[in-house]
Amino acid sequence: MAIDKLSINDLLLDNVPGAPPPEDTPNVEPIDPQHPDLTCTPDLTKTKAHRHVVAVENAGGNAYGKATGLFNKHRKYSEQWNPWHPFRSAHDSQQAQSFSQQTKTWIDQDLRRGLDNFKIESFHSADALRKLLSELDLWLGNDSWIEDDSHIFGTLYYRDIFKCMQFLLAHLSFQVHLDFEPVCLADSEGRRIYSQMNTGDWWWDTQDQLPTGATIVPVICASDMTHLTNFSGDQHAWPLYLTIGNIQKDICHTPEKCALILVGLIPCPPQGAKNIDQAWHSAVGTVLSQLWHLHITGPGLKWDCADGFQRQCYPLLAAWVGDYPERVIVAQVSYGSCAMCEIPKGALMGHSTVRPLYNSRDQHIYSELLEDNNIDALHTVGVHAIRNQFWQYPLCNVYRLWQPDELHQLLLG
Ligand SMILES: [Zn+2]
Repeated sequence: MAIDKLSINDLLLDNVPGAPPPEDTPNVEPIDPQHPDLTCTPDLTKTKAHRHVVAVENAGGNAYGKATGLFNKHRKYSEQWNPWHPFRSAHDSQQAQSFSQQTKTWIDQDLRRGLDNFKIESFHSADALRKLLSELDLWLGNDSWIEDDSHIFGTLYYRDIFKCMQFLLAHLSFQVHLDFEPVCLADSEGRRIYSQMNTGDWWWDTQDQLPTGATIVPVICASDMTHLTNFSGDQHAWPLYLTIGNIQKDICHTPEKCALILVGLIPCPPQGAKNIDQAWHSAVGTVLSQLWHLHITGPGLKWDCADGFQRQCYPLLAAWVGDYPERVIVAQVSYGSCAMCEIPKGALMGHSTVRPLYNSRDQHIYSELLEDNNIDALHTVGVHAIRNQFWQYPLCNVYRLWQPDELHQLLLG
């Protein structure tokens, strides 16, 4: 079939990573490519929730009791709760924020001059401000960093990713911007609308593989190996960020909402170093190690959510945001290969009309080839003959972590 004979559905759904063919999707009306609804206004009478999700007032994925964690406990069960903690007032909190980029000397001088008419009550020196901030019980202060000196290119700094996820899930600022269950949005004519992450096929398919009532926490990692962050003199590191797909995309995309948490500073290799890929995988594996051990048939993790309920959460690696060099390293394929399908290197800049679609990469096949020591077969499809750590992550397909990226795939080509 020539490429121009393919329907929009074929082109979009077969080639977009993470999106299985429409026939795999339950309760979905086929989309009519001739008459796309560009306004995409959801019609709630046509919209469906997943059958595993039992509707509970103010809850999405099944709720199992009230949240008892720091955030909701303070908000819901204490009239004395101070939203500006550790500061006494909004004014003090704002002033502290304005000092965040300043030096200690600058802050001390500013406080001595009293340019705000000496209204600040919570602190009167840079040291006092630092002490207040260190007392913040949000889990993500300076002491949340773990140091690991066992990596070959230097010290790896990382955070407990489960704590970061719990922080995001229970953060009151995101209370009305969280999704816990898959929905199938439809317009007034029953045509499917894709919007937030929970409207996509990945969430529906994954929900089917988890116990009833489970709440998926889709883990989205972001890294940029070509961007070196300079900090404290001549030290360098590759930053690794994390967010969760439960937070709606408009919030995730707004830097000042702080939905993207720095979870790892991976040591950079020195000039001319070898085995960079392996060192990177080793460091990232350390940061994400908790994801390996999740039992998808078990009870999950009982985490607080910002709407005041606890849910049985299953954090799963769902997506990776990065440039082409990242794809190659994460997928452990040779440079010039596609990280998603087995298209030959030379044909990478466009599927040919003779064979428009190529086999999707399959970690199970590669794993068997590696066990059989069939190195040639792996090299033929551009896969390194080593065990990729991401093959072990539950319900994760490392070759489908990549999502369409307007900047790199459309604008830059
Ligand atoms: Zn491809």
